[in-house]
Amino acid sequence: MNTQLSRDFKQHIAWTSDTPLGLVVESASGPFIHLADGKRLIDFISGIAVSSIGHRHPHVLAAVRAQLERHLHVMVYGELVQRPQVALARALTVQLPEVLDTVYFTMTGTEANEGALKLAKKYTGRTKLVAFERSYHGDTHGSLSVTGRSVYQDPFRPLLPNVEFLPFGDVAALSAINAEAACVITEPIQGEGGMRVPSRLWMQVLRDKCTENGTLLIFDEVQTGFGRTGRLFAFEQFGVVPDVLTLAKAMGGGMPLGAFVSSAKIMDTLRRNPPLSHVTTFGGHPVSCAAASGALAVLLNEGLPARAIELEEHIRARLQHNLIVEIRGMGAMMGMELSSSRAAEEVARYCLNHGLLLGWTLHSDRVVRLAPPLNVPLEVLDEALDIMLSALHQVVQP
Ligand code: PMP
Repeated sequence: MNTQLSRDFKQHIAWTSDTPLGLVVESASGPFIHLADGKRLIDFISGIAVSSIGHRHPHVLAAVRAQLERHLHVMVYGELVQRPQVALARALTVQLPEVLDTVYFTMTGTEANEGALKLAKKYTGRTKLVAFERSYHGDTHGSLSVTGRSVYQDPFRPLLPNVEFLPFGDVAALSAINAEAACVITEPIQGEGGMRVPSRLWMQVLRDKCTENGTLLIFDEVQTGFGRTGRLFAFEQFGVVPDVLTLAKAMGGGMPLGAFVSSAKIMDTLRRNPPLSHVTTFGGHPVSCAAASGALAVLLNEGLPARAIELEEHIRARLQHNLIVEIRGMGAMMGMELSSSRAAEEVARYCLNHGLLLGWTLHSDRVVRLAPPLNVPLEVLDEALDIMLSALHQVVQP
């Protein structure tokens, strides 16, 4: 039935690897993706931490429909007063510490990080950037420059100069941060690096080092944000407030949207010398902003950040097997490290063949990634865990 479609996919869609999953999507709703061949997949990766409130949540659809009746794109970012942008910025900043009161909307996560890096350079007048090994911040040149994995950087050099990488989570290594650094950028919990959670002490020393040196602390919460780790934002778990917060993924409730958020004082830097030194045509698209306001209301009204902790507890209690070296992560952002990359691949393949879509991480091939929708019903969660446990039993021990 779909041979022509598959042929066109192969011929006209640029591939990102030699082995795309290539499944034909018919529709998606709640925790499920429905395929053209009639199969139903439990989505345990949520489009890589995007559909945290499930696919096509009715509140998001209603918000999108209402905005479609008013206007689509009208003008480049920042010139006209667009109600969906203002409403979302207000709803978002109410949830944030007082210093994070000014929002610059983008389309994607990498674009949010590009904006944050440019902001830090312009605000401090410095050029040095500090980042961490095994981090991931996106695939445009600036974000790639602070992504700590040379295998992804090498084909694209030269990248931005003057970037220093420190080992993630190592308190002593933070002494390298000095007054030359415009910013330090980090994920509060490394996602692509394999769901690595640093200590509270490390976070607090990091904050102090940045404050002492007038260096801006940027938290990339593109993946950890919007309830995934058990609080609305992961920084709340560590008792540390960043100078700049970057967001995307789950923010738009399934629509493309990102943002970098900072204080009015810092953000004012982008207004002048020269004006329009950082602009975007589509950043803060009104339909995406309307969707995001709907998604944020669902997260808050349904208490979904707290549900992430319940999911974690349930998953940790049930997911026990001698092939599992460790389950890392926080809330519903989890990585199951297996004893070999072959085991990880076999488990993921078995699950896919039995109706469960799991993920991988870019920097860690022994880690199977779990990022279920935060409102996944308990019986669907149990069905997914049953499939994972049978997958683990099937894998032949090396
Ligand atoms: N930062 C982090 C922590 C991410 O996980 C990602 C995407 N995996 C990005 C940035 C890039 O986001 P996008 O793909 O929307 O550009």
